[in-house]
Amino acid sequence: MNCAGFKFTLLLLGSIVLISCAKRVITSRAPLEYVEKQLKKLAPVQIEFNSATLNENEIKTLKKLIEAAKIIDRLFLLQVYNENPNIQEELLKSRNPNDKPYLELFNIMFGPWNRIDHDRPFINSKQKPLGAAFYPEDMTKDEFLNHIKKHPEDKEAFESNFTVIRRKEGKLVAIPYHEYFKNEIEKLTKLLKEAATITTDSTLRKYLTLRANALLTDDYYESDLAWMDLSGNLEVVIGPYEVYEDRLFGYKAAYEAFICVVDKEESEKLKILGNYLDELESNLPIPDEYKNFSRGKSSPIKVVNEVFSAGDTKAGIQTTAFNLPNDERVRKDRGSKKVMLKNIAKAKYDKCWIPIVKRILADKPLKNTSFDAYFNHVLMHEISHGLGPGFITMENGEKTTVSKALKDLYPTIEECKADILGIYNLLYLIDKNVIKGISKYEAMATYLGGMYRSIRFGINEAHGGGVAIQFNYLMEKGAIFVDDNGKLDLNETKMQEGIRDLAKKVLTIEAKGNYAEARRLIEKYRQITSIMDNYLKMLEDLPIDIKPIYPKI
Ligand code: ZN
Repeated sequence: MNCAGFKFTLLLLGSIVLISCAKRVITSRAPLEYVEKQLKKLAPVQIEFNSATLNENEIKTLKKLIEAAKIIDRLFLLQVYNENPNIQEELLKSRNPNDKPYLELFNIMFGPWNRIDHDRPFINSKQKPLGAAFYPEDMTKDEFLNHIKKHPEDKEAFESNFTVIRRKEGKLVAIPYHEYFKNEIEKLTKLLKEAATITTDSTLRKYLTLRANALLTDDYYESDLAWMDLSGNLEVVIGPYEVYEDRLFGYKAAYEAFICVVDKEESEKLKILGNYLDELESNLPIPDEYKNFSRGKSSPIKVVNEVFSAGDTKAGIQTTAFNLPNDERVRKDRGSKKVMLKNIAKAKYDKCWIPIVKRILADKPLKNTSFDAYFNHVLMHEISHGLGPGFITMENGEKTTVSKALKDLYPTIEECKADILGIYNLLYLIDKNVIKGISKYEAMATYLGGMYRSIRFGINEAHGGGVAIQFNYLMEKGAIFVDDNGKLDLNETKMQEGIRDLAKKVLTIEAKGNYAEARRLIEKYRQITSIMDNYLKMLEDLPIDIKPIYPKI
């Protein structure tokens, strides 16, 4: 029965209840060929992990945590766009087989905008709001800033990582996540508490219990500390963390989850690097007054294999490593924990990385690339997020954090910093014979090879933008050049100089919280030049990332 007939029947029955048809929200779509082409850019990979290392209790706990993580998927969907649930429902109910690819792409992107094609809409034609669904869609930056000017008492709540901004009776208001997403948060915390009663790992039980309570209050400090202490076989992250989805201000944290199993042997090897954090900080190419030795005294490093992921981290491009928590108070007291997702890194290396370098690198650097160098650069990228300025004093004497000072430019600058310092520090540790089995040339060749995998993500995304800055800067310095065959090659000496100089530039911007200088750097170097465009065209048919197919537990 169609909707009109249903309403008519109700009227005949004398019902006074008014039932309206669910409004169709999809009014237009990109051509089917476009959507199918986008799906081909993500190579499906069966994600594997060795379940034999887990006991029965751990398997049972994992199952419960995966259930909880699925609520995170829902929460993030709501954070991206208010209409997302309606679009998803309409696609799910559709009997048109041609709608399947649209649904698949929608689920991968967590919304109607293609994250691997500059957020181009593939359902309807509306552009993605810069502030996602964290702010009213029609709110301008000025309106937000003017509100804070007029109501300084609202500043903290408005800039909080854990509130959404809404308009009530024409006035802007901040609503805490736990109130705004009450239904989902209740379901999520119930599952986390159940998982806490199942697990026999006391550190995990403590984290899950504190995290469940934190989600109900949006005060994450204690549970972040408990997360730093996890010491069992399971490594779990669940909650609101990264602010990349908020491109309006970079304030609002997006929900995400990583459900992983620890790779103990690898983690032991990498722990050694934790002893070198002070040495790396003191080796930074900036004046001593900007160095920050109090930041990461005991920053643990873990290597894990991912079993399931959800929300922000799963949308579009898959994460190979992360560095959490972001709370500067925790970082100051306890440092941060670096988690490397080895099975994801290897899947990407095989499916996406190797095909790229085969096409664009000159013979010598190509012969010198390796998974080992790649994995170590990703590791050093994560370590480098925790190095350098965190809390800073601005020129006017105001005490703040780098993230607050650089606002919307922070994600791009911070990713650029982590990448360039990643290679800077890797070269240093190879020199010191702390990292063995890789040559400096191999590290630089692999670093160069990896750039185009990131740039292909789009330069408006923080990681891709950060890499575009590095590539163009190093080209300008002659560190990277195009050889007679049109392939990319590098100059070893100029490369090391260029890496040090750019690291210094970016660190100085962060140390001074210099927004104007950050904008200048981004405007000058975050460009797709004609050289870059040529390479990108050569890679067009290759998958740009993986689509993980998670194991059944
Ligand atoms: Zn990063």
